Amino acid sequence: MINDTICAIATPFGTGGISVIRVSGPEAILKVNQTFKGRNLLSVNTHTIHYGHIISELGEIVDEVMISVMHAPKTFTAENVVEISTHGGVLVTQKVLERLLELDIRLANPGEFSERAYLNGRIDLVEAEAIMDVISAKNEQALKIANLGVAKQTSKLVYDLREKLLNIIANIEVNIDYPEYDDAVTMSEEIVEPQVKKLLKEIDHLLKHSYQTRLIREGIKTAIIGRPNVGKSSLLNTLLDEDKAIVTNIAGTTRDTIDAYVNIGGITLHLIDTAGIRETLDVVEQIGVGKSKKALEEAELVLLVIDQSEDLTKEDLELLELTKNKKRIIILNKSDLNKSKVKLADSISISTLTSDGIDKLEQEIIKTLQLEDLNNSDFNFLSNARHIQKVKEAKTSLESVLEAINNEMPVDIYAIDLTNAWNMLGDIIGVRYEDELIDQLFSKFCLGK
Ligand code: GDP
Ligand code: ZN
Repeated sequence: MINDTICAIATPFGTGGISVIRVSGPEAILKVNQTFKGRNLLSVNTHTIHYGHIISELGEIVDEVMISVMHAPKTFTAENVVEISTHGGVLVTQKVLERLLELDIRLANPGEFSERAYLNGRIDLVEAEAIMDVISAKNEQALKIANLGVAKQTSKLVYDLREKLLNIIANIEVNIDYPEYDDAVTMSEEIVEPQVKKLLKEIDHLLKHSYQTRLIREGIKTAIIGRPNVGKSSLLNTLLDEDKAIVTNIAGTTRDTIDAYVNIGGITLHLIDTAGIRETLDVVEQIGVGKSKKALEEAELVLLVIDQSEDLTKEDLELLELTKNKKRIIILNKSDLNKSKVKLADSISISTLTSDGIDKLEQEIIKTLQLEDLNNSDFNFLSNARHIQKVKEAKTSLESVLEAINNEMPVDIYAIDLTNAWNMLGDIIGVRYEDELIDQLFSKFCLGK
């Protein structure tokens, strides 16, 4: 049960002539009324706007404002909502906000309004998460994925899959519980098996594209590796300079990690704690094969740097071998020295000194990740790790169904796995009621009349 009242500045920080502070919760109207000089907000109609002033505890004017009063449940959060439009200016807005905090209105956490909207049944979980994604989107593509009504499309995909599953389950249940009911098809394994196989195919397709979507959204975990002095730090700096990366140092954890995000053609590379990053931050270490191995475990993309002005060393060869099964790009650096001693297939020649070949490298990154064919309209896939996990669990359950059929188990055994898959998919959109299954059963067959 949500019973506190929260507030936050709803407009982008420091822009525009007007700032809006949103207040939501059972006491939103009551509390704002205590600090408002103008009409008595407790007696105004819902969805009306009122002119007046926010006043301090001592009765001084803090700001001249317009106040919108919206009664539950027809509001964004389905709670009482008050929106205060201040005259803007960071300072004044901050003052009004502070005044609200004095009245025991709590500052909202990021996304908390959306969370309430979900908890109050106003939006489904996928939509709520999409809003969270917009808040935390790290790059343009991700923002598009988050924005493009993808939430709706994801919901729809999941609803579709569930609907198909339900058809199978409902028929089986009817067979079991109402053997005398003639209108239902008898669900023998000959009927169930191909249907389950078809569902599995759809799920595989979904998962494949979801992976790519997630890569774009969360950033591709990328490791820059190579023996000392080949130019890892220089490459990192070149990428950082050109693409305005963010470098974060997350200290305080057991292994303080350093992460950098680089935007390449709208795709985020999440450079994981590799040699180059550490060195760039002035912790000069000689990083060899040993350390690279660790970075490699996590990496989804490897940028292997080689100094083409020197012959390949044993260490280079080891790294080439170590990365051969990874998505990798072999980078032959220092092309400006004009003494190319290294010939390797599928490599890209660059110079971090002159930036020669960097464009080509960026194209190669996009190509290697096979993302070039992903146009924006294709983003109707799951884009969230939690969703993907749930779909995988549903897939496992469906595979158990096939196994049970192979082992000639009775139908009611695999009905459990089917229901399980149905529940997993329900978790994605935030519904999981056996009751719902029963309801649908009844509405489908008009049983119990
Ligand atoms: P790391 O140890 O792999 O990180 O290598 P660094 O980035 O620290 O570079 C090692 C040395 O190679 C430095 O003196 C760089 O200036 C030099 N270097 C890096 N990239 C290039 C390049 O493209 N051309 C030339 N000529 N020198 C480079
Ligand atoms: Zn270095």
